Amino acid sequence: MSAAQTTTAMTGAYLPGDSTVVFRDTPIPEPGHGEVLVRTMASTICGSDIRAIYREHVGKGPEGYQGVIAGHEPAGVIERVGPGCVQFGAGDRVIVYHISGCGVCNDCRRGYMISCTSPTHRKAYGWQRDGGMAPYILAEEKDLVALPDELTFVDGAQVACGFGTVYEGLQKIGVSGTDALLVVGLGPVGLAALMLARALGARPVIGMDVVPERIRLAEELGLADHLVHAGEEALSKIRDLTGGHGVERAVDCSGADPGRQLAIRATRKWGKIAFVGEGGSVQFSPSPDIIHDQKTIMGSWVTSIWRMEELVELLVRWKLHPEDLVTHRFTLDRAAEAYELMAGGKCGKVAIVFDE
Ligand SMILES: [Zn+2]
Ligand SMILES: [Zn+2]
Repeated sequence: MSAAQTTTAMTGAYLPGDSTVVFRDTPIPEPGHGEVLVRTMASTICGSDIRAIYREHVGKGPEGYQGVIAGHEPAGVIERVGPGCVQFGAGDRVIVYHISGCGVCNDCRRGYMISCTSPTHRKAYGWQRDGGMAPYILAEEKDLVALPDELTFVDGAQVACGFGTVYEGLQKIGVSGTDALLVVGLGPVGLAALMLARALGARPVIGMDVVPERIRLAEELGLADHLVHAGEEALSKIRDLTGGHGVERAVDCSGADPGRQLAIRATRKWGKIAFVGEGGSVQFSPSPDIIHDQKTIMGSWVTSIWRMEELVELLVRWKLHPEDLVTHRFTLDRAAEAYELMAGGKCGKVAIVFDE
């Protein structure tokens, strides 16, 4: 236990936007009405943190970083509850859905606080309100998902963003045992896609990346039936692995133009493609690439809180542990090393862990 716990202050990590981490002391918050104080147990680093905050503050609107404590993938234990909480209590293990919405717009009512339309009440943890890179996090009770004992805190932290995002994308395109599935881009989100697609029954599950270290990691983890290196022959290799047809379902987690093109072209007639990777653009020819082959491309952004609950239940049933994708663990005081490693893009998931 840190001395901070016996006092009223704690140290949080902030991202000034020049590829560094800054630590600042801040009061431990007191939960108000409908709020809980969560003792952080795990807080994982997301590709979005690197892309939109760590290197420079490029995010706008929902991705605009407002100088708060970083970290939008937290899990922990409730330390104190404020007045008016109805379901959760002290000692409960929880995941924090990483956006707090207004609760009353149409998107919030669908459970998609990620898409909350309130310009003043929508606040993402780690972007517009304090996040998980601190010993405590103040959260709204309505943003919590119960974390069952079968799952670890690092499992929970990954559900808070990456795994939830992947599960949503796979549900949108509908993945089952009748599908061969391609995942383009094998960062932590792509690895999660391989893991969940296989659990949903897809086979073969094929992964592709340009970075040899990522291919190697996917191989070590045994997450794919086939791994393909990006390049001129990737498309014909994927066709060869699928009887010449291509895959029924593809998920792009690369966010890169050639990756997205491959996801589209490696998908067979009537197939469906989910775009999950953010940023960039894509060049394709609608008629030959999608219209004449009756293909569907769907965009998918994070998930809803009910679907996150559903995923938690399924992870327990499937005996899957998102923590398996974590290749590096750091304590909070070493957060600078953690972000630097993640920014290098050659590792699996990077986790900040507390009290280990
Ligand atoms: Zn994230
Ligand atoms: Zn809303």
